[in-house]
Amino acid sequence: MLEKVLIANRGEIALRILRACRELGIRTVAVHSVADRDLKHVRLADETVCIGPAASADSYLNIPAIISAAELTGADAIHPGYGFLSENADFAERVESSGFIFIGPTAQTIRTMGDKVAAIAGMKSAGIPCVPGSDGPLGQDDARNLELAREIGYPVIIKAAGGGGGRGMRTVHKEADLLGAISVTRNEARSAFGNAMVYMEKFLVNPRHIEIQVLADTQGNAIHLGERDCSMQRRHQKVVEESPAPGITEEQRRFIGERCAEACRTLAYRGAGTFEFLYEDGEFYFIEMNTRIQVEHPVTELVTGVDLVKEQLRIAAGEPLRYRQADIRIRGHAIECRLNAEDPVKFVPSPGKITQYHAPGGPGIRVDTHVYSGYAVPPYYDSMIGKLIAWGEDRESAIARMRTALSEIVIGGIKTNIPLQQDILADPRFHASGTNIHYLEQRLKAESQ
Ligand code: ADP
Repeated sequence: MLEKVLIANRGEIALRILRACRELGIRTVAVHSVADRDLKHVRLADETVCIGPAASADSYLNIPAIISAAELTGADAIHPGYGFLSENADFAERVESSGFIFIGPTAQTIRTMGDKVAAIAGMKSAGIPCVPGSDGPLGQDDARNLELAREIGYPVIIKAAGGGGGRGMRTVHKEADLLGAISVTRNEARSAFGNAMVYMEKFLVNPRHIEIQVLADTQGNAIHLGERDCSMQRRHQKVVEESPAPGITEEQRRFIGERCAEACRTLAYRGAGTFEFLYEDGEFYFIEMNTRIQVEHPVTELVTGVDLVKEQLRIAAGEPLRYRQADIRIRGHAIECRLNAEDPVKFVPSPGKITQYHAPGGPGIRVDTHVYSGYAVPPYYDSMIGKLIAWGEDRESAIARMRTALSEIVIGGIKTNIPLQQDILADPRFHASGTNIHYLEQRLKAESQ
C-alpha cells in the first residue's frame, strides 16, 4: 500500500481523501494556501505545508510548489481531487517524472481526453456511441462544411476541440448562420484555448445528462458502477445528482456500462473515471470523459457500497480491482444536493464566517463538508461548501430523507442555496423525474418574470 499521500486540493474533497487515507492507514500531507490554514483537513492531516498566497494560481495551481512539498515531506503519491490540477496532463507528467505516483490515469490519457476531437475519435474506435458529427476537425472548405451540416441536420453545434467548462461552443439553427459561427468559434478558441481547432455535432434539443462511473486497474481489469443522472443544472453546473437515473432499465445500464468498461480496457485506462453522455429518446451520445473523481461520486458509493476514493488509492498502489462486474449491484436510490455559499436567488457568492452549523442526520444521510461553526468561507475559491447525500430504498424515500435533512441543516452567518434545493426537492416535475438539462434554468427564468 501507499505510505504517505499528498492531497493537492482543498475543501470537502480534500477532507474526503484524507478520510479514505486514514481508513487505509496511509499518512497524509495537506498543502494549503495562506487563506486556508483553518480548513478542517489541514487541522487533521499528519503534516501540512503552506504552498503560497490565497490566489489559486499561486497555490493550488502552483506545480513547482506542490512538487517541492511532496519532496520535502517524502510523500509517495499525489491525489489531485477534482478541479485545480486534476486534469492537467503537464502536472501528471511532472508528478511522475519527479518520482511520485499520480493518483489518476497517465498524462497521455489525460491529454487525449482533454482534446475533444481526439477523445471522440478514441471513443468511436472503442465502440462508444457519439453524437452524429463531423468526425474530426472542420477544414477551411466552406462548401464542404455547409454540406456536412446539411447531412447532420440543423440545429448543429460548433465546438472547440480544446474547450472546457461550458465555453467555446455555438449553436447554429439555420444555414445562413453556419459559416459565421464557425469562424467566430475558431477565433474565440484560438484566443481562449490556444487551439483554433473546431468540430461540428448535431445539437440535441432536449437531452438529459447521464454519466457512467468506471474503475480500471493497471492489470487490464475494468468495471462500471452504473449511472448518475445530473440533468438538474444551472450554467452547465450540476446542482442535484442522483443514482440510478430514473427510467433507465437494467438492460440499458448493462449495454452502455459494458461499453464503457470495454473502452477502458481498449484505451488502457487507469483509475476512476466518468463517461459523460447526453441521453435523448432512449439513445446515449458521448460528450466527454472526466479522468478524475467527481463531485457527485457519493451517490454511486451509496447505491453500490463501493468506496471510490479508497479504490483510487488501491489502484494507484498497483493492486488489482477487488470487484468483478458481477459483484456490482445497484441497491436503492441516492440523491445529492450541492451546498453553495451563495444567494439562492441571485447566485452571487456569499463568503464569510459561519456563525452556526448544525448537521442533519438520521438513516441514510451523509454529509460531505469541511465547514464547522466558526469557519470562515474565503472569497477566493469555488462557492461549493459541501454536499448533502440521501439514500433510501427507493427514489421517493431518498427524496423524503433529503427533504427532512434540508429542513434540519443550519448554516448561519452566510447565505446558501438551501432554499433553492428545498424548492427543487418539492417540485412536482422533479418528483415525476426525467427532467432535461434545460429544466432548472427555464424554471428559474419563469420565476424571475
Ligand atoms: P465542457 O467540456 O465545456 O463541459 P461538454 O462537451 O461537456 O463541454 O458540453 C457542455 C454542455 O454543453 C453539455 O452538458 C450540454 O449542456 C451542452 N452540449 C454540448 N454538446 C451538445 C450537443 N451536441 N447538443 C446539445 N447540447 C450540447
